[in-house]
Amino acid sequence: MNTSVDETSPEKLLTPVLSAFWDQDRSWTLDVYRANGGYRALGKALAMPPDDVIAYVKDSGLRGRGGAGFPTGMKWQFIPQGDNKPHYLVVNADESEPGTCKDIPLLLANPHSLVEGIVIACHAIRSHHAFIYLRGEVVPVLRRLHAAVAEAYAAGYLGKGALGDGGDLDITVHAGAGAYICGEETALLDSLEGRRGQPRLRPPFPAVAGLYACPTVVNNVESIASVPAIIDRGKEWFRSMGSEKSPGFTLYSLSGHVARPGQYEAPLGITLRELLQMSGGIRPGHTLKFWTPGGSSTPMFTAEHLDVPLDYEGVMGAGSMLGTKALQCFDETTCVVRAVTRWTEFYAHESCGKCTPCREGTYWLVQLLRDIEAGKGLLSDIDKLADIADNINGKSFCALGDGAASPIFSSLKYFRDEYERHVTQGGCPFDPAKSTAWA
Ligand code: NAD
Ligand code: SF4
Repeated sequence: MNTSVDETSPEKLLTPVLSAFWDQDRSWTLDVYRANGGYRALGKALAMPPDDVIAYVKDSGLRGRGGAGFPTGMKWQFIPQGDNKPHYLVVNADESEPGTCKDIPLLLANPHSLVEGIVIACHAIRSHHAFIYLRGEVVPVLRRLHAAVAEAYAAGYLGKGALGDGGDLDITVHAGAGAYICGEETALLDSLEGRRGQPRLRPPFPAVAGLYACPTVVNNVESIASVPAIIDRGKEWFRSMGSEKSPGFTLYSLSGHVARPGQYEAPLGITLRELLQMSGGIRPGHTLKFWTPGGSSTPMFTAEHLDVPLDYEGVMGAGSMLGTKALQCFDETTCVVRAVTRWTEFYAHESCGKCTPCREGTYWLVQLLRDIEAGKGLLSDIDKLADIADNINGKSFCALGDGAASPIFSSLKYFRDEYERHVTQGGCPFDPAKSTAWA
């Protein structure tokens, strides 16, 4: 298949909203945010009854940008009405999925879009306390978030009387301790409550019993940060981008063997071919071998999938998931067995140990993969890999187990011959000196 791209870049396909002024001097400050229309949506939202804000976001069709694509307005609507428990908003900023790197640049360059989105969301779900659970390793982001929240307090967007009904609103920024599993929403809540982060049984979903057993909305950074633009420019404007079931703009993170990696903000439903046209294509002299549509947990695609629409339905129809829109591209110099071994080592290391299929299965996957990759495996080990992955997938307590099985299945589907060559040739058929997957 021809994977070449047209170098005449169709940048008109880009829809910069969240990234519109990232290149401006001190883009992260309140002054620059306001100069670009920031906090304009807040006044409109606070003038609306909370239920109308929820209905508006629901009608816009915004779907969760953390990976699962659950409708944001519907999630807000699950919060009970007229109860006497506190409601909480928890922003999941524990971005850790391999290849996923959209929320961190967004928070660095434009943290006020999140703060404004939080105030609007808290007004909608009648919450007086929001938490931002940030991946602990990203200390510069932590500092920037603290600074943005302090600016918002000083400007009166947070604190006493910040909400439309005259109620108060506080934001607590919490830095996690660096566990991938704490990105799973219920493990995150356990961690926030001061316990070891391990997934809880769902149902009940957080909307019913979340933080401190109270109704809680857990939303991804990008989901909440997208809300002010929707309120400000209108749900019809948002729906004019993307597809009917997956409307709007979003951040795609292009990484790996591409000429110009980075964040590309474009409508849902764009294709990797189009994104590569904007980013200079695969690095010169090389061709695309495989790629992930949404981080390593999503089944990999090959060059045959360059024209799959990158929206929830399109990617699902082609046998994968949109996930976090982390488009990791690997060229023909990459050993797929090596890449899958690396990912599986990550999942084995990050498995929280709560359930047997994932805890034991990821360990055994790593042992087999290391043997195969080193040329010490047997052909029967390849079937064993598939068998173990099958015993993890759908039988684990949370999505981490399914994510670990995913690259095994898809690499065997498209590159089984490469596993076999490692066994029959007694080692990797690729020249390590030419492959960046060897580092
Ligand atoms: P999920 O589909 O189980 O749930 C998605 C959201 O919808 C959750 O907030 C959940 O509470 C809510 N929900 C679903 N059904 C509900 C119901 N009946 N009532 C109320 N609320 C309901 O997905 P998940 O297990 O939370 O997350 C999996 C996704 O996470 C994957 O798609 C993966 O791409 C993504 N992920 C992202 C990262 C990252 O770094 N951003 C890391 C790992 C995984
Ligand atoms: Fe923990 Fe893995 Fe089980 Fe999830 S699937 S609960 S991460 S052991």
